[in-house]
Amino acid sequence: MAKVKVATCWLDACAGCHMSVLDVDEAILDLAKVLEFTASPITDIKEFPQVDVGIIEGAISNEHDEHVARDLRAHCKILMVLGDCAVYGGIVSMRNLFTNEEIFDRYYHTEGTICERYPSEEIPPLTRVRPINEVVKVDCYVPGCPPSAKAIHYAITELLAGRIPVLPSEIMKFD
Ligand code: SF4
Repeated sequence: MAKVKVATCWLDACAGCHMSVLDVDEAILDLAKVLEFTASPITDIKEFPQVDVGIIEGAISNEHDEHVARDLRAHCKILMVLGDCAVYGGIVSMRNLFTNEEIFDRYYHTEGTICERYPSEEIPPLTRVRPINEVVKVDCYVPGCPPSAKAIHYAITELLAGRIPVLPSEIMKFD
């Protein structure tokens, strides 16, 4: 039987959600029999092929993030968003409380880091932080910061059974 193809990416994120995927421990051996990870930070393959399931960690904070989210959406049948940042903006959306100038001042003009100018030509422009579903259609949501390995395993198992996962409250993680 052909393996289910998966592609993943992280956008504005801390990588904790991908680490939580690896936390499924030995169950990953069973998943590896039926899943094929293609483009992913785990495999370090950059180009998305056509896949069955796309998984996004992180929020959209600049034009590059938006491009990657649209690219993965265009290459997958089912798009799952993983973690609070992807689901609703999470901790990275705290940036929305400040202007870009305030953020750059804090980052480049503090005691620890004094720059003559903002390196704005070298970095992508910042936009308001958005959850993934403000930019592309999302099929299923796995919240948590990060989601527990149990929740991730449940969600993937449901997808493999041909069902869109709806996480039971007892395996949801809210801290
Ligand atoms: S949801 Fe939490 S663990 Fe996942 S990328 Fe955001 S901050 Fe990191």
